[in-house]
Amino acid sequence: MPLLPLHGHGGLRARFDDAIRRDVLPGSLLLHGPAGVGKQRLALWLGQRLLCTGAEPRPCGTCQHCRYALAGNHPDIHWYFPRPRPRDADSTPSRIDDDLREAVADRIATGAYAPPPPEEAIFVSTVRAIVRSAAMNPALGARKIYLIGEADRMVVREDAEEAAGAFLKMLEEPSPRATVVLTTAEPGALIPTIRSRLVAVRVPPLGDRDVDAVLQEPAMQEAIKEANGPKGLAEQRRLANGAPGSLLGSREWSDAIARAQRILDAAGSHDRRKQMKTALQQGATGSRGAFSTALDALTSLLHERLKATIERGHLSAAASASRAFDAVEAAKERAAANTNPRLVTSELLRQLAEHVA
Ligand SMILES: [Zn+2]
Repeated sequence: MPLLPLHGHGGLRARFDDAIRRDVLPGSLLLHGPAGVGKQRLALWLGQRLLCTGAEPRPCGTCQHCRYALAGNHPDIHWYFPRPRPRDADSTPSRIDDDLREAVADRIATGAYAPPPPEEAIFVSTVRAIVRSAAMNPALGARKIYLIGEADRMVVREDAEEAAGAFLKMLEEPSPRATVVLTTAEPGALIPTIRSRLVAVRVPPLGDRDVDAVLQEPAMQEAIKEANGPKGLAEQRRLANGAPGSLLGSREWSDAIARAQRILDAAGSHDRRKQMKTALQQGATGSRGAFSTALDALTSLLHERLKATIERGHLSAAASASRAFDAVEAAKERAAANTNPRLVTSELLRQLAEHVA
């Protein structure tokens, strides 16, 4: 299955096209706009436009570059986005690239993909892989395109890491044979030293007609149905609010938050029976994926609580909060090692009860 077709964004496409014709397209771009509006898909289009060697108007859709780009496997389009934290053995640049290649293939196979769970990020090992890859010549085309989706989830400490320094340099002095496009729904969350090196382009919400066109893609309908999302085109259009991708996967996350909240309530209740009941509700091994997502949601809830506590001036809460985070991390490891969710929750509740008020 090829990439989901790009609908809308006509104004930006014309602007990029014009800049490419006049050879003034900046080497480092930041596409920002609402989550689910299609920023990464637009960046992939831009990559295809830059590489196309076919007949005008470009991208022609039929030359070799276009065909590879549309299949999502052009060797000069490098697409990165948040992934689970790699184990040490898997953090070499070639393993990182292998992992991303598989993840991209998954995204293409699905056609319409959900946003990565909140615990996934672009870790420094990935930044290292990007920098290493960028030093090499293009494989097939005249240039290389680096697309870094959800770039606000890059975990880099600017002064502490050699890779971060090299990445900043790559943004600041892009090679004439490379174009770097970062995308984010939260430009304010980007590290200022990264943001200041990019030319920002706002990707506006889609109009109703384009939203409908995206929603009517069979892959979108299938994915929305699977996410147990809203039924009926009118309802979907209303909830999409100009960003149809936002309908994917949001249900799974809100379920996970509700489940995490119940675990947290049980821990705080100091009621042993309630805690046992909550542990039993987590089911056996079959529901492992949803359980792991619930643990991710729990981390997120603990962060919110910690922030609120610190804002109220209760700095001493930080120590016990950090033990609560440790307990959740340990639970995630046990869940990943296929331990029964009931057992994991029971132990987690015992530890959390000591550290949440
Ligand atoms: Zn072409």
